[in-house]
Amino acid sequence: MAAAAQLEDVPNESLFSELLRRMKCAPKPEKRIILVGPPGCGKGTQSPIIKEDFCLCHLATGDMLRAAVAKQTPLGLQAKAAMDKGELVTDDLVVGIIDEALKRPSCSKGFILDGFPRTVVQAEKLDAMLETQGHKVDKVLNFNVEDSVLEERITGRWIHPGSGRSYHSKFAPPKVSGIDDVSGEPLIQRKDDTAEVLKSRLDAFHKQTTPVIAYYSQKGIVVDLQAEKPAKDVTSQIEKALS
Ligand code: ADP
Ligand code: AMP
Repeated sequence: MAAAAQLEDVPNESLFSELLRRMKCAPKPEKRIILVGPPGCGKGTQSPIIKEDFCLCHLATGDMLRAAVAKQTPLGLQAKAAMDKGELVTDDLVVGIIDEALKRPSCSKGFILDGFPRTVVQAEKLDAMLETQGHKVDKVLNFNVEDSVLEERITGRWIHPGSGRSYHSKFAPPKVSGIDDVSGEPLIQRKDDTAEVLKSRLDAFHKQTTPVIAYYSQKGIVVDLQAEKPAKDVTSQIEKALS
């Protein structure tokens, strides 16, 4: 009853475009995809394109945690210190967020996980969660970028906090400096997007997340991407991998 009442307030234009989207998505096959790679490798840039093409939900644990920190929820308060230092938050915390999010109707055709799993424990827990629903991960896209390229990408990144859209002052500038192209709202730089914090984030990636790639390689579902190439080229590699 409450959901129906909320629908009455949705403008016609939004309702029609959502209906059209659902009609377009109905025949698409289900897909469950993980994006893995170091900070700044391009996961957030490619996710909206894959989401649109394949009708999947996009779950970025970093975005979800930042929203919780901004709202000062108990979860956000728990996560903040580790995030500021560029360390990983606890497995239980992120597994709980993902478990909840995967139940959303928008995830019914499958998902793109961006920034999760980041440890082997998270990967095992995800597999267990999916198994109970008779599902499994289909593909893991491994974004390969040398560490030396990442500092310029990270320190030049600007994001729109509401949507997670990312820009780059040199590689992907917004139409108007400091302003989101879609909403016209201001862009911000992330507190942890500094050369200093990047060192800890890369350290966490190499020590804790590289084993996740090995975990999925054993299952034969990892596709290696040359993610140092321009963003359009990376999109083509992904389309080829998922078709
Ligand atoms: P991640 O989500 O993996 O941390 P992003 O997608 O936010 O990374 O990309 C980090 C920064 O690098 C952003 O500012 C983005 O605009 C830029 N970027 C993304 N892909 C490329 C690319 N292929 N070449 C150059 N810059 C890129
Ligand atoms: P990201 O936006 O993916 O760069 O993530 C930002 C920060 O959020 C990371 O440095 C971690 O502190 C935290 N975080 C995001 N995803 C995870 C995860 N799957 N496991 C643990 N910590 C995470």
